[in-house]
Amino acid sequence: MGNLNGKTVFITGASAGIGAATAFAFAREGARLLIAARRHEKLASLAAELKEAGAIAVHTLVLDVRERATVASAIEALPTEWKTIDVLVNNAGLSRGVDKVYEAKIDDWEEMIDTNVKGLLYVTRAVVPGMVERNSGHIINLGSTAGEQTYPGGAVYCASKAAERAINDGLRQDLLGTAVRVTTVDPGMVETDFSLTRFRGDSERAAKVYQDVTPLTPEDVAETIVWTAARPAHVNIARVLMTSIDQANSLLFNRKQQVGTR
Ligand code: NAP
Repeated sequence: MGNLNGKTVFITGASAGIGAATAFAFAREGARLLIAARRHEKLASLAAELKEAGAIAVHTLVLDVRERATVASAIEALPTEWKTIDVLVNNAGLSRGVDKVYEAKIDDWEEMIDTNVKGLLYVTRAVVPGMVERNSGHIINLGSTAGEQTYPGGAVYCASKAAERAINDGLRQDLLGTAVRVTTVDPGMVETDFSLTRFRGDSERAAKVYQDVTPLTPEDVAETIVWTAARPAHVNIARVLMTSIDQANSLLFNRKQQVGTR
């Protein structure tokens, strides 16, 4: 697609969904992959598959992005050959519940804000100085249609993605004058473990989210992420907002029989 061969790509939340699909998409471009998440066994089995898919090398990093000190020390302690990160994909994220904001569990808020906002900032703070020093790099953040338009029961998740968008824009402004690029890829509904996590393992409830509608696949998003990274070095794709053909915005879906909300 572009010259991603031999580039080092760091993906957070690479053990599943969009993160794992993104790792495969970069592997097919011959990238070197630094894959991070909390579940080591998932990363370990992915590592072998990614090499088969074309990755030049794979390094796994067990990392909880919410742990501020660990994020800094784990990135600082990377082996020398993994320290030069060319592309950072800030993908780790989750939603919890669809409770009304005045009834929701405060622990759920903490988890979403700590992961989606603070975790993204901790990783960014640890990786970007090296990019500035080398005057080269690309940060690709995972936003969402949720960051643009709030839906009922989603106030805090949507707020976390609105924050991601503000951070993305602020970072691009702060990096002006360097050759470091900043992109947010903002998908609508993508069929992953996202809803299973949101509903704490209730698979029936999670399946209903994708019922009678064609969602995006993790591969659709992964290909878009790789496309942004493969643009010529002077081209910065600031934002990609993408949905399946069955989704018009955060609230409006074509559920085959009826047009209605999520
Ligand atoms: P997913 O399949 O549930 O994957 C989430 C990934 O994030 C997993 O690899 C998980 O790995 C990792 N993760 C969660 N908490 C973490 C933490 N504290 N530290 C490190 N890694 C953590 O969900 P997904 O749909 O691919 O979501 C990926 C991103 O896309 C998220 O930022 C999400 O908000 C965004 N997004 C999703 C959709 C959608 O409809 N699916 C739409 C728009 C945007 P471990 O559990 O192994 O740590």
